[in-house]
Amino acid sequence: MRIAEEVTFGTSGLDRAGRLRPDEAARALLARTGAFRATPLWHGKLLIDGDGQVAWLPPDHAVFADTSSEVFLGLSEAGEGYAARDISDWPGDGQTRAEGFFDAGEQSHPALGGAFRFRELRGAMTILGRRDAELLSTAKAVLGWHRSHRFCSACGSASVSLEAGWQRKCPSCGASHFPRTDPVVIMLVTRGDNVLVGRSPGWPDGMYSLLAGFVEPGETIEAAVRREVMEEAGITVGAVRYLSSQPWPYPSSLMIGCAGDALDDAIRVDPAELEDAVWLTRSEVASVFQGIHPHVRAPRRGAIAGFLLANWLADRLD
Ligand SMILES: [Zn+2]
Repeated sequence: MRIAEEVTFGTSGLDRAGRLRPDEAARALLARTGAFRATPLWHGKLLIDGDGQVAWLPPDHAVFADTSSEVFLGLSEAGEGYAARDISDWPGDGQTRAEGFFDAGEQSHPALGGAFRFRELRGAMTILGRRDAELLSTAKAVLGWHRSHRFCSACGSASVSLEAGWQRKCPSCGASHFPRTDPVVIMLVTRGDNVLVGRSPGWPDGMYSLLAGFVEPGETIEAAVRREVMEEAGITVGAVRYLSSQPWPYPSSLMIGCAGDALDDAIRVDPAELEDAVWLTRSEVASVFQGIHPHVRAPRRGAIAGFLLANWLADRLD
């Protein structure tokens, strides 16, 4: 798909500068010369400034006093370094933080003016520029991994961060651990001029999406597409082809968007997986995007399902 990387969190061409990860002296030199900026994440939330942009701050800013881990993200075209730091040990500003799918609350930090707010990436992802979107999706995934992988999975000892946040090492047994990326297939299954969409139990009213599921160990992408569609909707899929992918840091997935040709059209929903699945015609998908479909709401902005559906409708999957 020629426009594959126009998806939200698609690449911005960031130089991830892996050569600098083991080179602490080079990164320290960037910081000393002022060519280094960092942004804090708090429980996965990003810091937005008064202009609605990601706040990139000097690395010695007081907001970083509660830093528990850091990841070096790369270099700008001008050679400036970027890093992100987890400050989740900061107790917060007293506002309750909602656990679960989405926390609409915003927090302000005493070391910053009130215009600076911590916000969920889900709510901000479609307003970020391409570079900030790539930096923040990387930062959220890696810092989230540090928080959930503090102990060695081989022996249980506390592990330490290495390679500027791109590795953890166990001082007890010597095992090395690397940030996870969990592959998920998401499929645009079509039969003629119809596309298959479904909804899971508990989703908001009217929300439908493309079927999706985790790739299992020992499975190809194509096999995962066919298995998930058969399990969830009872549809046999023949040819499968890759379309586009999307880093999805909730917490650490890679969405692999595929097209699949359905070989039959009789839907048999597995109620343990889906509440409903339907075929939509092209004109119905058009009415969904116009917001006038009687039952199906427009897909969430920023997610690859909406990107694939919109480009299928516009005949831009080539
Ligand atoms: Zn160990």
